[in-house]
Amino acid sequence: MAAKKTLPVLYVVTPCYNEEKVLPLTYPLFLKKVKELIKAKMVSPESKVLFVNDGSKDETWDIITKIAKENKEIEGICLSRNRGHQNAVLAGLMEAKERCDITVSIDCDGQDDIDAIDEMIRRYAEGYEVVYGVRSKRDTDTFFKRFTAESFYKLLHMMGAEIVFNHADYRLVSSRVLNEFESFREVNLFLRGMFPLVGFKSTTVAYERQERMAGESHYPLSKMLALAFDGITSLSIKPIRIITGIGVIVAIISFAGVIYSIASFFAGRTVPGWTSMTCILCFVSGIQLISLGIIGEYVGKTYLETKQRPRYIISERTYKE
Ligand code: UDP
Ligand code: MG
Repeated sequence: MAAKKTLPVLYVVTPCYNEEKVLPLTYPLFLKKVKELIKAKMVSPESKVLFVNDGSKDETWDIITKIAKENKEIEGICLSRNRGHQNAVLAGLMEAKERCDITVSIDCDGQDDIDAIDEMIRRYAEGYEVVYGVRSKRDTDTFFKRFTAESFYKLLHMMGAEIVFNHADYRLVSSRVLNEFESFREVNLFLRGMFPLVGFKSTTVAYERQERMAGESHYPLSKMLALAFDGITSLSIKPIRIITGIGVIVAIISFAGVIYSIASFFAGRTVPGWTSMTCILCFVSGIQLISLGIIGEYVGKTYLETKQRPRYIISERTYKE
């Protein structure tokens, strides 16, 4: 507890991928927030905003280097190529953890209400090591986005992934938790499902989700489905259990069917059963294929994990290491 008497150093970690349109609008907000927090003596004057350029193909990195030069509260790192949102956040957190006491990860598009950081820091001061930002309303989302996003959380929950409802990647995490988190070496990242596994005292803070200030979402339905599937298969083996369950039920029904057909044969009631044969064949082979696919997904994951490739490579920094 002694450490908390001195002001904690805060790092706001923000992943950016092709955000040249939105960054010039949002970086002043991040900057202002950090300066306000420093002034209010809630965080140390060493606190910073760390922008992670996730291999953008536009002017994003140029913007980051420029604003880092102009403001001592801003720093940037550049990944060697696009590695996706989750890896970019992880890169930023791992980079920050050596130099701070608390990190807050937040999207750079202005959708997450930046003022919730105050409340998060207050919670940290009360002794919480992880504070999850939770969306209170989704008024600004389209019906479709809201429906798919909420189904996403429900599906994940049903499939046995322990996640905080309506929490995305806006969260405060202490460097102490990040040090433990480092030993989670998986390459299939699903951060929001992994932090609950690390444990420590955690709580939630509600905030309202805004509309994107500019540019477009990188998460269309296809990517969201991919993320949901990744989330489930990285965190839980429930789908395999469900397959086993279905297998058992189908086996019992099939067995009953076999007895029935043999009985029919002896009773002399057999007819050329082409239709029933085809139905059974289709049904069983369908189930087998789905099952094989899902099992294959886990085998694929294992394959990727055994390679132990680096999850990201930092190619440039706006400061000396
Ligand atoms: N992002 C990233 N790498 C990617 C895709 C997205 O770093 O490959 C960043 C993006 O710049 C943004 C955040 O991840 O800061 C969330 O993306 P987006 O706003 O497109 O998703 P949505 O909020 O629509 O779910
Ligand atoms: Mg967004």
